[in-house]
Amino acid sequence: MALKAEIVSIGSELVSGQNLDTNAPWLSRALGELGIATAYHTSIGDDMADHVAAFRIAADRADLVLTTGGLGPTQDDLVREALAGAAGVGLREDPDSLAAIAALFGRRNRPMADRNRLQAMLPEGAEALPNPIGTAPGVWMSIGRAAFASMPGVPNEMKVMFADQVVPRLRLRHWVERVIVHRKIALFGKGESDIEAEALDLTARGHVPEVGITASDSTISFRIRGEGLTLEAAWAQTEETAGLIRRRFGPLVLGEGAVDVADALVEQLKRAGATMATAESCTGGIVAHLVTAIAGVSPYYLGGVVSYSNRAKTDMLGVPAGLIEAHGAVSAEVAAAMAVGARERFGTDLAVSTTGVAGPGGGTPEKPVGLVYLGLATADGVETRRVEIGPEQPRGIIQRRSAKQALDMARVALLARPDRGVSP
Ligand code: ATP
Repeated sequence: MALKAEIVSIGSELVSGQNLDTNAPWLSRALGELGIATAYHTSIGDDMADHVAAFRIAADRADLVLTTGGLGPTQDDLVREALAGAAGVGLREDPDSLAAIAALFGRRNRPMADRNRLQAMLPEGAEALPNPIGTAPGVWMSIGRAAFASMPGVPNEMKVMFADQVVPRLRLRHWVERVIVHRKIALFGKGESDIEAEALDLTARGHVPEVGITASDSTISFRIRGEGLTLEAAWAQTEETAGLIRRRFGPLVLGEGAVDVADALVEQLKRAGATMATAESCTGGIVAHLVTAIAGVSPYYLGGVVSYSNRAKTDMLGVPAGLIEAHGAVSAEVAAAMAVGARERFGTDLAVSTTGVAGPGGGTPEKPVGLVYLGLATADGVETRRVEIGPEQPRGIIQRRSAKQALDMARVALLARPDRGVSP
């Protein structure tokens, strides 16, 4: 007989339609990935008799019951008492939970209210599930033949408790029949359809492991789903495909997981032990912002200039006024001079620059909205790139996409440099 799970979502705001229940679908998917099927979703309001009745019904028809919500310190948080009621046992104070709650208030420098003591009460025979990011510990206990896991309603707290506390207990019972892993390999530098066209063999239906492509903010990600009896086996199933993607897309690969262009660039700066500066016109500091959003970049990113006016380009970066007059501020020549100027003034190994028409006004037939010139200056010289983001794109997208492309020019240039063994 296959295991049956039931999920009970608790809170009057859920049954009244004020809040959407996102916990139950999340938990059903998570259980599904572990090979456990959910047979029932139940929602109940903040009423004691309804709690006890729902728990008894669930204990009768399911092997595993996951509840979320109702563990807080207020009067309408009834789960602990209702679990005891459904099991026909009393409540006791759990000293470890009480110590953990008191410690949490201590860390936050706040006095612990008496009602928070209630959160350390557990039904007889129950085990507390530690909650590292909130006050309410969860509850693990048996009612009849069913195992109950009661978790907080706050989605983040629930997810951590499920992964760290509930799943290991399911494994101990040998209820988890398989493990599924999702790997993500992030790419930058080509459009989603171009990348997909080069990976049709991998994304084909029926390919093992399953491979999908998603795009977000110009970063394209391959998602590989591996499945096995153990974590090692699930991971091993993805290895060959992950290696193939890395080899096939080479310099486009930013890395694995939630990496973006700026993360990958900073990693290359560290690896090569190189320093960098920026000179921005149409991106108004976005390039600098994206780089400085990465912690630990200060030895590698030395500074930047937002030279929005022609005068600033001349005064701050040494771009000759005659060059701007001859070619216009939006030109490959000016992008090159900006990058060279920034590299010299900041004394860095490399510098990137941006100058373009962010729109919505200011476009001409020769220089339409969305046209951006990027520059990259290194010890070897200077190169420029002309990119057209598209006149129909909003200003913010033109700025952000061109900023990311500027970062990517620097990243790709650094790939060829030898390791200075700094990191990672
Ligand atoms: P805590 O004591 O940690 O605050 P709790 O167990 O008392 O947690 P509730 O008070 O029931 O949790 O819910 C807290 C908040 O969590 C709700 O205001 C709501 O925003 C969110 N929440 C609760 N249940 C769900 C659910 N099923 N789906 C999505 N969000 C939920």
